[in-house]
Amino acid sequence: MNFMTKLLHGNFAPDGKTGATTTPIYQSAAFCHETAEDLEKIFLGQKPGFVYTRLNNPSLDAFERRLALLEGGIGAVACASGMAAVSLAVMNIVKSGDEIVSGSGIFGGTHSLFSGLGDYGVGVHYAKDNQIQSYLKCMNENTRLLYVETIGNPKLDIPDIAALAELAHSQKIPLIVDNTVTTPYLVQPIKLGADIVVHSTSKYINGGGNSIGGIIIDSGQFKWAIDKFQTLRDFNKFGKFSYLAKLRSSLLSNFGGCMSPFNAYLTSIGLETLGLRMDRACENAYRLAVCLQKTNKVAVNYPGLQENIYHNLAAHQFGGKFGAILTIRVGTKEKAFTVINKLKFALNLANIGDARTLVIHPASTIYAAKSIAEKEEAGVYEDLIRISVGLEDIEDLQTDFLQALENI
Ligand SMILES: *Cc1c(COP(=O)(O)O)cnc(C)c1O
Repeated sequence: MNFMTKLLHGNFAPDGKTGATTTPIYQSAAFCHETAEDLEKIFLGQKPGFVYTRLNNPSLDAFERRLALLEGGIGAVACASGMAAVSLAVMNIVKSGDEIVSGSGIFGGTHSLFSGLGDYGVGVHYAKDNQIQSYLKCMNENTRLLYVETIGNPKLDIPDIAALAELAHSQKIPLIVDNTVTTPYLVQPIKLGADIVVHSTSKYINGGGNSIGGIIIDSGQFKWAIDKFQTLRDFNKFGKFSYLAKLRSSLLSNFGGCMSPFNAYLTSIGLETLGLRMDRACENAYRLAVCLQKTNKVAVNYPGLQENIYHNLAAHQFGGKFGAILTIRVGTKEKAFTVINKLKFALNLANIGDARTLVIHPASTIYAAKSIAEKEEAGVYEDLIRISVGLEDIEDLQTDFLQALENI
């Protein structure tokens, strides 16, 4: 089955009882069973079945199975948000005294999370750039995982996933990849050697900006049964499912960050058109980048442009597409505000991956609490505007941005 077909038919058939073509919203807190013996077996894992929506639910199950298929994993756990997914994916592995090595151009919320882990005894080091050497320099015997995003946001830096997977495995540690910005339509990190994939499904997976969600997908490839991963020792009996077993029965259950069935329903429907939307958004982003560059008024950062330092890696890694996020630098903060205020179609808000084109001034919003040095490390400058390009007619977008730029 090819990708677009999987989006519609993968791991789901119309409901046998009613013929419903989408998984209904199972808006129920718990699920009752005929006999006490049945429920005992389900609790012991000896019989499949649903118990309580914090642990599992048919609407979530359908969504999880489809995304696991799309990413090439053995299973998935849906979470309340992308941040719930990122934090549970990492905390399923580390304990006090352990360290994480991360790419530096990561999402602001993830950066905050990692900075806060110090209070729990977990250290974080950021590779200064995407050279393999820079990651290696940050690693030591306490390192328990490598963490990267497929395209850093808003820095738009790109790691070589296959090379990092090799580096991680040479040290017997897993590579976790946040694939939010590229989605499995552009790249399936597990195919390149990644062990765990996380998403904020609030973005392209949903596609309509109508619900918050996240998901963790496990490749099932990593061998956890070694001294480094004492935290998973009680789950080694589950073999290749040990990470997922701990995630669901321990972290998801104890921290309680489950996705709501209604959000799973909305997100599953959005997911069906992922391929079409990504084709369109990536094409629009490229055409907008070229148009803005031609004005000579702004510096454009987009991996799809020939001269971009990540162009070749992106072309190879993402199958000739370059994502739908670009940034422009317009000279000053005042000019950035003017451009944002003059835009008619592009909405000024803190999100990406919507059907609509979105803009934001990261320095005064998402990164407002960070120092100038931290901002620059994350590729955030006072005159920078981030654009998440949507599905509008490109002529309208180009006209909108050109008229806004007339004012500076
Ligand atoms: C938005 C985002 C997150 C966090 O997701 P939420 O659903 O907002 O909690 C994590 N990683 C990336 C790359 C994101 O863009």
